Amino acid sequence: TLRQQPQPQRPKPKVPAKASNKIHVVTDEEVPDVIHDVYHNRTYYKVELLGEGGFARCYQVRTKAGEMYALKVVSKKSLSNVKFLAKLHCEIIIHGQMQHRRIVYFHDCFEDDANIYLVLEICRNKSLAEMLRARRRLSEPEVRFFMLQLLDACEYIHSQQVVHRDIKLSNVFLDDDLNVKLGDFGLSAILKTYEERKKTVCGTPNYLAPEVLFGKDGHNQKVDVWSLGILLYTLLVGKHPFRIRDSKELFRYIKYTFPEGLSLSSDVKDLIAKILVPNPDERPTIPEVLQHPFIQNADLPTHLPHSALTTCPSLD
Ligand code: ADP
Repeated sequence: TLRQQPQPQRPKPKVPAKASNKIHVVTDEEVPDVIHDVYHNRTYYKVELLGEGGFARCYQVRTKAGEMYALKVVSKKSLSNVKFLAKLHCEIIIHGQMQHRRIVYFHDCFEDDANIYLVLEICRNKSLAEMLRARRRLSEPEVRFFMLQLLDACEYIHSQQVVHRDIKLSNVFLDDDLNVKLGDFGLSAILKTYEERKKTVCGTPNYLAPEVLFGKDGHNQKVDVWSLGILLYTLLVGKHPFRIRDSKELFRYIKYTFPEGLSLSSDVKDLIAKILVPNPDERPTIPEVLQHPFIQNADLPTHLPHSALTTCPSLD
């Protein structure tokens, strides 16, 4: 009789997580120290690396006249990836049309043989993500200050029939005076009418509105209101309200709690409760959020000192 041979354990194939989506983020060597925009006859000099994302490298650059910009560099090699091409398209077409003091100013874009370059307003104080990491939590007046500016940005975007769809701490940049500059329009979309709905699932998982994940009828501007609610909670509490990595079920979105011992005003709790409702039709619009007592409260700093990046300011 044939003896049953012990089956050798088949080795697990070592497939990279996203083999078919292999992407090429531009390397430092692929970005020249002196970059020529031959179309506009301009020259940019690399000053330093500001950061690297999953898609681009961003440099602080200087012109001959001494103007400073953030230069976002995307390798043309990465554009064989459909998602990246779509992201770049949104950044250029939609971001390029946005003109508002609370939105990172998109100056220009150009290319050379190897790369595409986006010339952006520079935000030297990084984003709310770094600020929150250093501070752990922000005070209510500071959060009101940031929220008002973000609501201003969103009201403008929505008035232009655009949905941002990726509002999160790391996309809220801070200028030299710690004013908000909303950036990264790589997932944004244009809605031709207020009733139009988008069906593509996109965004950053923790900030995704329930209707994007579970809705059958698509989503609209209300997804940005949801993300603002997540941002509001996160800035005040120092952590995300939902643990959606545990489960992708809708009921997860219904329950969140505030940590014991953290004192928050009833107004801000009420605003969070009004925003974080799964049904987008019951969620307030941006103008409605602007009218909420938490936002309308007179305890609003005129500006934030630079020290607020690392320590809680005493605001009078
Ligand atoms: P990706 O699209 O790949 O996610 P990002 O837009 O996040 O790239 O940019 C990569 C890095 O560059 C980030 O760390 C971000 O902090 C920095 N950055 C992006 N835009 C600016 C800007 N306008 N000013 C300063 N830093 C920026």
